[in-house]
Amino acid sequence: MRKPIIAGNWKMNKTVSEAIELCRNLERAVHDSDVEVVVCPPFTALSALCALGMKKVKLGAQNMSNMEKGAFTGEVSVVMLQDVCCNYVIIGHSERRQIFNETDQLINQKAHLALKYGLKPIICVGETLVQRRANETEKVVINQIKAAFHEIPQDRAVNVVVAYEPIWAIGTGETASAEEANSVIGTIRKTLAQIYDSKTANQMRIQYGGSVKPENIKELMAQPEIDGALVGGASLNAEDFSAIVHYNE
Ligand code: PEP
Repeated sequence: MRKPIIAGNWKMNKTVSEAIELCRNLERAVHDSDVEVVVCPPFTALSALCALGMKKVKLGAQNMSNMEKGAFTGEVSVVMLQDVCCNYVIIGHSERRQIFNETDQLINQKAHLALKYGLKPIICVGETLVQRRANETEKVVINQIKAAFHEIPQDRAVNVVVAYEPIWAIGTGETASAEEANSVIGTIRKTLAQIYDSKTANQMRIQYGGSVKPENIKELMAQPEIDGALVGGASLNAEDFSAIVHYNE
């Protein structure tokens, strides 16, 4: 059985004091859940949230450098993230791919480095609207998965979470239908089974992301291939995010 994982990507939102307030409320609201709960605040809030010593809510970063340390102005390293209690790091979010020109190769380098240090990557893949309309969804996603997992050994791959996020559904209010999301995630799992084997692929967790809300999470989580969600907008308040975490009540 794969343990469901619901992660919040706060993007460039929340000051330190706002982040503390949200996490205190969230920790109270989800402490009894069986779901693994992760929040990915901006870098600036991580140290203060680490000091809260939360028991239920885990911390993740939204990005990290592909370099271990050194003269890379403005970058944040994997060791720095571990130092502020991060267990997870989002890698290759579509905003990083599209706005900051992150390539498949860079994403693969970051995944290798995170895993080397025991940080669990949440690797994002997904097609644009143009690619979807051209019926290229499967091809795009398969290629992104193959590139992201290039030379990642099997014993480390099981620590990776994949987030399937159709780009046209992120922040737009549009969601892929639960069946569509399930089908693409099934393709991702088949691809992972080809790279590794089906036992490994069946252990790996694959989330859906793209306008997930309290109203649609139940249907998404009812799909056999969907193991959780990566949530943007609806993770910015404790009420909505905890309602998503409590999807099965
Ligand atoms: C995201 O940023 O990963 C995301 C899915 O955003 P939203 O839930 O706002 O669509």
